[in-house]
Amino acid sequence: MSVRLLQGEAIFDGKNLLPGDFVLVVNENGEISDLRPAKNEDQNIEKWPGILVPGMVNTHCHLELSHMKGVVPRNTGMVNFLLTIVQQRVAEQADILKAAGDAAQIMFDQGISVVGDICNTGIIQTIARKSPLRFYHFVEVIGFDPSVAENRFNFCRNIADGYSTFSPSSVVPHAPYSVSPTLYQLINQQIDSSVLSIHHAESKAEQDFFRKRESDFDRLHQFIKTDLSQHIVAENASSVRSFLSRFTNKKILLVHNVTISEADLIYIRELEKENNLEVYFAICIRANEYIGNGFPDIELLFRYYPDRITIGTDSLASNEDVNLMHELILLKKLYPAITDLQWLKTITIQGAKALNYDQQFGSFETGKKPGIVYVNFDQMRSERII
Ligand SMILES: [Zn+2]
Repeated sequence: MSVRLLQGEAIFDGKNLLPGDFVLVVNENGEISDLRPAKNEDQNIEKWPGILVPGMVNTHCHLELSHMKGVVPRNTGMVNFLLTIVQQRVAEQADILKAAGDAAQIMFDQGISVVGDICNTGIIQTIARKSPLRFYHFVEVIGFDPSVAENRFNFCRNIADGYSTFSPSSVVPHAPYSVSPTLYQLINQQIDSSVLSIHHAESKAEQDFFRKRESDFDRLHQFIKTDLSQHIVAENASSVRSFLSRFTNKKILLVHNVTISEADLIYIRELEKENNLEVYFAICIRANEYIGNGFPDIELLFRYYPDRITIGTDSLASNEDVNLMHELILLKKLYPAITDLQWLKTITIQGAKALNYDQQFGSFETGKKPGIVYVNFDQMRSERII
Protein backbone atom coordinates (compact mmCIF):
# COMPACT_ATOMS: atom_id res chain seq x y z
CA MET A 1 0.00 0.00 0.00
CA SER A 2 1.45 3.38 -0.96
CA VAL A 3 1.89 5.99 1.73
CA ARG A 4 2.45 9.74 1.79
CA LEU A 5 5.03 11.34 4.07
CA LEU A 6 4.09 14.87 5.15
CA GLN A 7 6.15 17.48 6.91
CA GLY A 8 5.36 21.04 7.99
CA GLU A 9 6.98 23.79 10.02
CA ALA A 10 5.62 21.78 12.98
CA ILE A 11 2.95 19.14 13.54
CA PHE A 12 0.10 19.59 15.99
CA ASP A 13 -1.15 16.10 16.89
CA GLY A 14 -4.17 17.20 18.94
CA LYS A 15 -2.14 17.59 22.14
CA ASN A 16 1.37 18.86 21.46
CA LEU A 17 3.32 20.79 18.88
CA LEU A 18 5.96 18.45 17.48
CA PRO A 19 9.04 19.92 15.79
CA GLY A 20 9.53 20.25 12.02
CA ASP A 21 11.72 17.13 11.72
CA PHE A 22 8.74 14.89 12.46
CA VAL A 23 6.87 13.24 9.58
CA LEU A 24 3.24 12.29 9.39
CA VAL A 25 2.75 9.00 7.55
CA VAL A 26 -0.65 8.57 5.88
CA ASN A 27 -1.93 5.60 3.89
CA GLU A 28 -3.87 5.88 0.63
CA ASN A 29 -7.20 5.84 2.51
CA GLY A 30 -6.18 8.93 4.44
CA GLU A 31 -5.60 6.98 7.67
CA ILE A 32 -2.75 7.98 9.95
CA SER A 33 -0.13 5.17 9.88
CA ASP A 34 2.58 6.82 11.94
CA LEU A 35 3.89 10.06 13.39
CA ARG A 36 7.65 9.90 14.03
CA PRO A 37 10.97 11.68 13.53
CA ALA A 38 12.19 11.57 9.92
CA LYS A 39 14.62 8.79 8.97
CA ASN A 40 17.56 8.97 6.57
CA GLU A 41 15.90 6.48 4.22
CA ASP A 42 12.61 8.48 3.96
CA GLN A 43 11.94 9.45 0.36
CA ASN A 44 9.59 11.93 -1.30
CA ILE A 45 8.71 13.85 1.84
CA GLU A 46 6.12 16.55 1.02
CA LYS A 47 6.86 19.85 2.75
CA TRP A 48 3.94 22.16 3.55
CA PRO A 49 4.22 25.89 4.39
CA GLY A 50 2.62 25.84 7.84
CA ILE A 51 1.73 23.68 10.84
CA LEU A 52 0.10 20.35 9.99
CA VAL A 53 -3.10 19.94 12.00
CA PRO A 54 -5.99 17.44 12.04
CA GLY A 55 -9.14 18.45 10.11
CA MET A 56 -10.79 21.29 12.02
CA VAL A 57 -14.17 21.40 13.77
CA ASN A 58 -16.65 24.28 13.44
CA THR A 59 -19.01 23.71 16.36
CA HIS A 60 -21.62 26.32 15.52
CA CYS A 61 -23.01 27.23 12.15
CA HIS A 62 -26.41 27.68 10.48
CA LEU A 63 -25.87 26.60 6.87
CA GLU A 64 -29.58 27.23 6.26
CA LEU A 65 -29.00 30.97 6.66
CA SER A 66 -26.09 31.19 4.20
CA HIS A 67 -28.27 32.99 1.62
CA MET A 68 -28.73 35.85 4.11
CA LYS A 69 -25.17 37.14 3.84
CA GLY A 70 -25.20 40.94 4.12
CA VAL A 71 -29.00 41.13 4.62
CA VAL A 72 -28.84 42.26 8.28
CA PRO A 73 -26.79 45.44 8.82
CA ARG A 74 -23.95 45.32 11.36
CA ASN A 75 -24.38 46.51 14.95
CA THR A 76 -28.16 46.42 15.18
CA GLY A 77 -28.17 44.47 18.47
CA MET A 78 -29.62 41.06 19.29
CA VAL A 79 -33.36 41.67 19.08
CA ASN A 80 -33.25 43.62 15.79
CA PHE A 81 -31.02 40.90 14.38
CA LEU A 82 -33.49 38.13 15.31
CA LEU A 83 -36.49 40.10 14.04
CA THR A 84 -34.79 40.66 10.68
CA ILE A 85 -33.93 36.96 10.38
CA VAL A 86 -37.49 35.89 11.19
CA GLN A 87 -38.98 38.36 8.69
CA GLN A 88 -36.54 38.01 5.82
CA ARG A 89 -35.29 34.43 5.78
CA VAL A 90 -37.85 33.11 3.30
CA ALA A 91 -36.26 32.44 -0.08
CA GLU A 92 -36.42 30.06 -3.04
CA GLN A 93 -35.29 26.57 -2.07
CA ALA A 94 -32.73 26.59 -4.89
CA ASP A 95 -31.14 29.81 -3.58
CA ILE A 96 -30.94 28.44 -0.03
CA LEU A 97 -29.34 25.22 -1.28
CA LYS A 98 -26.85 27.01 -3.55
CA ALA A 99 -25.60 29.33 -0.80
CA ALA A 100 -25.47 26.54 1.81
CA GLY A 101 -23.71 24.14 -0.58
CA ASP A 102 -21.08 26.76 -1.49
CA ALA A 103 -20.44 27.51 2.21
CA ALA A 104 -20.07 23.79 2.98
CA GLN A 105 -17.56 23.32 0.15
CA ILE A 106 -15.51 26.35 1.23
CA MET A 107 -15.40 25.04 4.80
CA PHE A 108 -14.16 21.66 3.59
CA ASP A 109 -11.50 23.15 1.29
CA GLN A 110 -10.19 25.37 4.08
CA GLY A 111 -9.74 22.33 6.29
CA ILE A 112 -12.92 21.94 8.34
CA SER A 113 -13.86 18.25 8.70
CA VAL A 114 -16.79 18.37 11.14
CA VAL A 115 -19.60 20.91 11.58
CA GLY A 116 -22.19 21.37 14.32
CA ASP A 117 -25.04 22.75 12.23
CA ILE A 118 -28.27 24.32 13.49
CA CYS A 119 -31.30 23.34 11.39
CA ASN A 120 -34.87 24.66 11.34
CA THR A 121 -35.91 22.48 8.39
CA GLY A 122 -34.72 19.31 6.64
CA ILE A 123 -33.23 21.20 3.70
CA ILE A 124 -29.57 20.60 4.60
CA GLN A 125 -30.10 16.83 4.10
CA THR A 126 -29.52 17.36 0.38
CA ILE A 127 -26.09 18.84 1.08
CA ALA A 128 -25.05 16.65 4.01
CA ARG A 129 -25.72 13.42 2.10
CA LYS A 130 -23.21 14.36 -0.61
CA SER A 131 -20.73 16.47 1.33
CA PRO A 132 -17.35 15.15 2.50
CA LEU A 133 -17.98 17.18 5.68
CA ARG A 134 -19.29 15.29 8.70
CA PHE A 135 -22.20 16.83 10.57
CA TYR A 136 -23.92 16.93 13.91
CA HIS A 137 -27.39 18.25 13.06
CA PHE A 138 -28.98 20.28 15.84
CA VAL A 139 -32.66 20.74 15.03
CA GLU A 140 -33.66 23.87 16.88
CA VAL A 141 -37.03 24.06 18.60
CA ILE A 142 -38.66 27.31 19.73
CA GLY A 143 -41.73 27.87 21.94
CA PHE A 144 -42.07 29.89 25.13
CA ASP A 145 -45.74 28.89 25.50
CA PRO A 146 -45.94 25.44 27.23
CA SER A 147 -49.15 24.54 25.37
CA VAL A 148 -47.29 24.35 22.04
CA ALA A 149 -44.43 22.25 23.42
CA GLU A 150 -45.54 18.81 22.33
CA ASN A 151 -46.49 19.84 18.79
CA ARG A 152 -43.31 21.81 18.27
CA PHE A 153 -41.15 19.03 19.69
CA ASN A 154 -42.76 16.33 17.52
CA PHE A 155 -42.40 18.51 14.42
CA CYS A 156 -38.67 18.96 15.09
CA ARG A 157 -38.11 15.35 16.13
CA ASN A 158 -39.50 14.32 12.76
CA ILE A 159 -36.93 16.56 11.01
CA ALA A 160 -34.16 15.19 13.24
CA ASP A 161 -35.17 11.61 12.36
CA GLY A 162 -34.67 12.49 8.69
CA TYR A 163 -31.11 13.62 9.40
CA SER A 164 -30.33 10.73 11.72
CA THR A 165 -30.45 8.20 8.87
CA PHE A 166 -26.94 9.40 7.94
CA SER A 167 -25.60 11.72 10.71
CA PRO A 168 -26.15 12.15 14.43
CA SER A 169 -28.90 14.62 15.26
CA SER A 170 -30.78 16.03 18.26
CA VAL A 171 -33.70 18.34 18.85
CA VAL A 172 -32.19 21.25 20.77
CA PRO A 173 -33.52 24.33 22.55
CA HIS A 174 -33.05 27.58 20.61
CA ALA A 175 -32.28 29.89 23.54
CA PRO A 176 -33.23 30.39 27.20
CA TYR A 177 -35.66 33.20 26.32
CA SER A 178 -37.59 31.13 23.76
CA VAL A 179 -38.18 27.70 25.35
CA SER A 180 -40.72 26.57 28.00
CA PRO A 181 -40.08 24.13 30.89
CA THR A 182 -42.32 21.53 29.19
CA LEU A 183 -40.27 21.79 26.03
CA TYR A 184 -37.00 21.36 27.96
CA GLN A 185 -38.47 18.22 29.50
CA LEU A 186 -39.25 16.71 26.10
CA ILE A 187 -35.79 17.64 24.82
CA ASN A 188 -34.09 16.03 27.81
CA GLN A 189 -36.04 12.80 27.31
CA GLN A 190 -34.44 12.04 23.93
CA ILE A 191 -32.40 8.98 24.74
CA ASP A 192 -30.21 8.56 21.68
CA SER A 193 -29.43 12.26 21.29
CA SER A 194 -26.66 12.75 23.76
CA VAL A 195 -25.35 16.12 22.55
CA LEU A 196 -27.40 19.29 22.89
CA SER A 197 -26.63 22.86 21.92
CA ILE A 198 -28.22 26.12 23.04
CA HIS A 199 -27.56 29.80 22.31
CA HIS A 200 -26.54 31.10 25.71
CA ALA A 201 -25.80 34.53 27.21
CA GLU A 202 -25.49 36.09 23.78
CA SER A 203 -26.53 39.60 24.85
CA LYS A 204 -27.11 41.81 27.86
CA ALA A 205 -30.81 41.84 26.92
CA GLU A 206 -30.92 38.08 27.58
CA GLN A 207 -29.74 38.53 31.18
CA ASP A 208 -32.21 41.45 31.58
CA PHE A 209 -35.02 39.14 30.47
CA PHE A 210 -34.45 36.94 33.54
CA ARG A 211 -33.71 39.79 35.97
CA LYS A 212 -36.07 42.62 35.09
CA ARG A 213 -39.72 43.05 34.36
CA GLU A 214 -38.90 44.76 31.08
CA SER A 215 -36.21 43.91 28.57
CA ASP A 216 -35.48 44.42 24.91
CA PHE A 217 -36.77 40.87 24.34
CA ASP A 218 -40.31 42.15 24.96
CA ARG A 219 -40.25 43.41 21.36
CA LEU A 220 -39.47 39.91 20.08
CA HIS A 221 -42.15 38.33 22.26
CA GLN A 222 -44.71 40.93 21.14
CA PHE A 223 -43.88 40.13 17.53
CA ILE A 224 -44.34 36.38 18.03
CA LYS A 225 -47.33 37.05 20.33
CA THR A 226 -45.99 35.29 23.45
CA ASP A 227 -47.90 35.60 26.70
CA LEU A 228 -45.26 36.60 29.26
CA SER A 229 -47.61 37.03 32.22
CA GLN A 230 -46.30 33.83 33.91
CA HIS A 231 -42.65 34.67 33.32
CA ILE A 232 -40.83 34.96 36.66
CA VAL A 233 -37.95 37.40 37.06
CA ALA A 234 -35.48 37.64 39.94
CA GLU A 235 -32.66 40.05 40.67
CA ASN A 236 -30.04 37.32 41.17
CA ALA A 237 -31.20 35.20 38.23
CA SER A 238 -29.02 34.46 35.24
CA SER A 239 -29.65 32.92 31.87
CA VAL A 240 -27.84 29.63 32.58
CA ARG A 241 -29.70 29.14 35.88
CA SER A 242 -32.99 29.22 33.99
CA PHE A 243 -32.33 25.97 32.12
CA LEU A 244 -29.20 23.96 32.88
CA SER A 245 -30.66 22.02 35.83
CA ARG A 246 -33.42 20.72 33.54
CA PHE A 247 -30.89 18.48 31.77
CA THR A 248 -29.39 15.17 32.90
CA ASN A 249 -26.78 12.80 31.38
CA LYS A 250 -25.91 15.00 28.39
CA LYS A 251 -23.16 16.86 26.68
CA ILE A 252 -24.28 20.46 26.32
CA LEU A 253 -22.68 23.01 24.05
CA LEU A 254 -23.31 26.55 25.31
CA VAL A 255 -22.98 28.88 22.32
CA HIS A 256 -21.73 32.50 22.60
CA ASN A 257 -21.34 33.07 26.39
CA VAL A 258 -20.82 36.82 25.91
CA THR A 259 -22.25 37.74 29.32
CA ILE A 260 -21.26 34.60 31.26
CA SER A 261 -19.96 35.40 34.77
CA GLU A 262 -17.62 33.67 37.19
CA ALA A 263 -20.65 32.84 39.38
CA ASP A 264 -22.23 31.13 36.35
CA LEU A 265 -19.08 29.04 35.79
CA ILE A 266 -19.01 27.91 39.42
CA TYR A 267 -22.70 27.01 39.14
CA ILE A 268 -22.07 25.06 35.92
CA ARG A 269 -19.20 23.13 37.49
CA GLU A 270 -21.36 22.06 40.43
CA LEU A 271 -24.28 21.09 38.23
CA GLU A 272 -22.10 18.99 35.95
CA LYS A 273 -21.45 16.64 38.87
CA GLU A 274 -25.02 16.63 40.18
CA ASN A 275 -26.73 16.03 36.83
CA ASN A 276 -24.00 14.09 35.02
CA LEU A 277 -23.46 16.79 32.41
CA GLU A 278 -20.42 17.63 30.31
CA VAL A 279 -20.56 21.28 29.33
CA TYR A 280 -18.67 22.72 26.36
CA PHE A 281 -18.47 26.32 25.19
CA ALA A 282 -18.64 27.57 21.61
CA ILE A 283 -17.20 31.01 20.88
CA CYS A 284 -18.40 32.86 17.76
CA ILE A 285 -16.42 36.05 18.14
CA ARG A 286 -16.98 37.59 14.72
CA ALA A 287 -20.76 37.06 15.01
CA ASN A 288 -20.66 38.85 18.39
CA GLU A 289 -18.80 41.70 16.70
CA TYR A 290 -21.19 41.74 13.73
CA ILE A 291 -24.36 41.90 15.82
CA GLY A 292 -22.78 44.30 18.30
CA ASN A 293 -23.28 42.23 21.45
CA GLY A 294 -19.83 42.74 23.02
CA PHE A 295 -17.27 39.98 23.61
CA PRO A 296 -17.04 37.13 26.14
CA ASP A 297 -14.39 37.05 28.89
CA ILE A 298 -12.43 34.23 27.28
CA GLU A 299 -9.54 34.45 29.72
CA LEU A 300 -12.05 33.71 32.50
CA LEU A 301 -13.40 30.77 30.49
CA PHE A 302 -9.87 29.43 30.00
CA ARG A 303 -9.29 29.58 33.76
CA TYR A 304 -12.29 27.35 34.46
CA TYR A 305 -12.62 25.24 31.32
CA PRO A 306 -9.38 25.25 29.26
CA ASP A 307 -10.26 21.90 27.63
CA ARG A 308 -13.88 22.64 26.79
CA ILE A 309 -13.64 25.77 24.63
CA THR A 310 -14.49 25.40 20.94
CA ILE A 311 -14.92 27.82 18.03
CA GLY A 312 -17.86 28.37 15.69
CA THR A 313 -18.27 30.66 12.72
CA ASP A 314 -22.02 31.08 13.25
CA SER A 315 -23.98 31.79 10.05
CA LEU A 316 -23.28 34.01 7.07
CA ALA A 317 -26.20 36.16 8.27
CA SER A 318 -23.83 37.45 10.97
CA ASN A 319 -20.40 36.87 9.47
CA GLU A 320 -18.39 37.70 6.35
CA ASP A 321 -17.29 34.10 5.81
CA VAL A 322 -17.09 30.69 7.49
CA ASN A 323 -13.31 30.63 7.97
CA LEU A 324 -12.00 29.49 11.36
CA MET A 325 -8.62 31.17 10.78
CA HIS A 326 -10.45 34.49 10.42
CA GLU A 327 -12.11 33.81 13.79
CA LEU A 328 -8.63 33.27 15.23
CA ILE A 329 -7.35 36.60 13.84
CA LEU A 330 -9.85 38.51 15.98
CA LEU A 331 -9.50 36.15 18.95
CA LYS A 332 -5.70 36.51 18.99
CA LYS A 333 -6.03 40.30 18.83
CA LEU A 334 -8.57 40.46 21.67
CA TYR A 335 -6.93 37.84 23.91
CA PRO A 336 -3.15 38.00 23.32
CA ALA A 337 -2.39 35.95 26.46
CA ILE A 338 -3.86 32.79 24.91
CA THR A 339 -1.22 30.81 22.99
CA ASP A 340 -1.42 29.40 19.45
CA LEU A 341 -1.26 25.90 20.96
CA GLN A 342 -4.38 26.65 23.03
CA TRP A 343 -6.19 28.00 19.96
CA LEU A 344 -5.20 24.93 17.90
CA LYS A 345 -6.85 22.68 20.50
CA THR A 346 -10.08 24.70 20.37
CA ILE A 347 -10.45 24.23 16.59
CA THR A 348 -9.58 20.51 16.58
CA ILE A 349 -9.74 18.01 19.45
CA GLN A 350 -11.94 20.08 21.75
CA GLY A 351 -14.52 20.66 19.01
CA ALA A 352 -14.40 16.96 18.11
CA LYS A 353 -15.07 16.00 21.73
CA ALA A 354 -17.92 18.49 22.03
CA LEU A 355 -19.67 16.91 19.03
CA ASN A 356 -18.85 13.28 19.98
CA TYR A 357 -16.63 12.92 16.91
CA ASP A 358 -13.31 12.37 18.68
CA GLN A 359 -13.13 8.64 17.86
CA GLN A 360 -12.27 9.55 14.27
CA PHE A 361 -11.46 13.28 14.28
CA GLY A 362 -9.53 15.96 16.13
CA SER A 363 -6.09 14.32 16.52
CA PHE A 364 -3.38 12.43 14.65
CA GLU A 365 -3.47 8.91 16.09
CA THR A 366 -2.78 5.66 14.27
CA GLY A 367 -5.91 4.39 12.55
CA LYS A 368 -7.77 7.70 12.72
CA LYS A 369 -8.83 9.49 9.54
CA PRO A 370 -9.28 13.10 10.65
CA GLY A 371 -8.30 14.89 7.44
CA ILE A 372 -5.01 16.77 7.21
CA VAL A 373 -4.69 20.53 6.99
CA TYR A 374 -1.91 23.06 7.12
CA VAL A 375 -2.41 26.31 8.97
CA ASN A 376 -0.15 29.28 8.48
CA PHE A 377 -0.32 31.73 11.40
CA ASP A 378 1.80 34.37 9.62
CA GLN A 379 -0.66 34.54 6.75
CA MET A 380 -3.63 33.48 8.92
CA ARG A 381 -4.80 30.96 6.38
CA SER A 382 -5.50 27.25 6.24
CA GLU A 383 -5.86 24.73 3.44
CA ARG A 384 -6.82 21.08 3.24
CA ILE A 385 -4.10 18.64 2.16
CA ILE A 386 -6.10 15.42 2.56
ZN1 LIG B 1 -26.45 30.53 16.17
